[in-house]
Amino acid sequence: MEHLTDIGVIKDIFQRHGFSFSKTLGQNFLVNPSVCPRIAEMGNAKKGFGVIEIGTGIGVLTHELAKRADKVVAIEIDSRLLPVLEETLSEHKNVTVINADVMETDLRAVIEEHFQGMEVAVCANLPYYITSPIIMMLLESRLPISTITVMVQKEAGTRLCAKMGTRDVGAVTAAVRYYSEPELLFNVSRGSFMPAPNVDSCVIRLNVRKDSEYKVEDEKFFFKVVRGAFSQRRKNLLNSLSSSIGVEKAKIAQAVENAGLSANVRPEQLTMEQFIDVANELKVIIEG
Ligand code: SAM
Repeated sequence: MEHLTDIGVIKDIFQRHGFSFSKTLGQNFLVNPSVCPRIAEMGNAKKGFGVIEIGTGIGVLTHELAKRADKVVAIEIDSRLLPVLEETLSEHKNVTVINADVMETDLRAVIEEHFQGMEVAVCANLPYYITSPIIMMLLESRLPISTITVMVQKEAGTRLCAKMGTRDVGAVTAAVRYYSEPELLFNVSRGSFMPAPNVDSCVIRLNVRKDSEYKVEDEKFFFKVVRGAFSQRRKNLLNSLSSSIGVEKAKIAQAVENAGLSANVRPEQLTMEQFIDVANELKVIIEG
């Protein structure tokens, strides 16, 4: 169905289906007509691709994805939207809507069942209350996905796409960079949504790496070190790690020195390679 960004059309749908927004489910629907076509175009919704959408709302982005991709599987938690979607997506035979929590969904099985012989992309205007957990779940489960193109709060987008060694970096930045090459695509003002949130948004694309270019001895330990490093942002790396990861300070100091770093270095100053060196050195010392 066209014109799903038209406020009159939306109000009519809501009234006929007795629908009202749920704040707890992060329901801010897109009403700026230029945004969904751009997400679809930049998010690899095209021939040869199957697209997973997370959170359909009334289907405004789903419609743009279905026009372009071979197949769309859309996962929506709110069962009140199912009758709405039956109406708004009725013209698209290549869309399957799954009524589920994406965090509880076996996406590997979804891909195997629906996207045989296709490349896979994820496109979404993410519910903001659960942005990072969804992104980390998609990356950590190493699904066969080429790109993840998502709308997130601007502040979250800045952190997710920050360059290592800059002050915007957080633990999630290092994790995202480990699995993908992130890009900030464009900004979207708060007025593009109904209801309008209190903050602006942006669309980012994570180009997922096929094989990690980083040589980490023990991934789990590496991520423990990264999370520990950023757990106390005002402290230097040595103090932050020694109060968070349960390893003696002297051993951490030795690992920092072996990695060729100053004892005063701050976590946000480190490159990915330096984080990896610290984690690898520390592991050798602990197991020594
Ligand atoms: N794509 C629509 C749009 O752009 O207008 C809706 C985006 S809205 C920001 C987020 C959507 O995600 C809502 O429809 C909400 O019900 C759904 N949602 C929230 N939590 C979810 C979850 N855990 N799993 C699947 N969908 C979820």
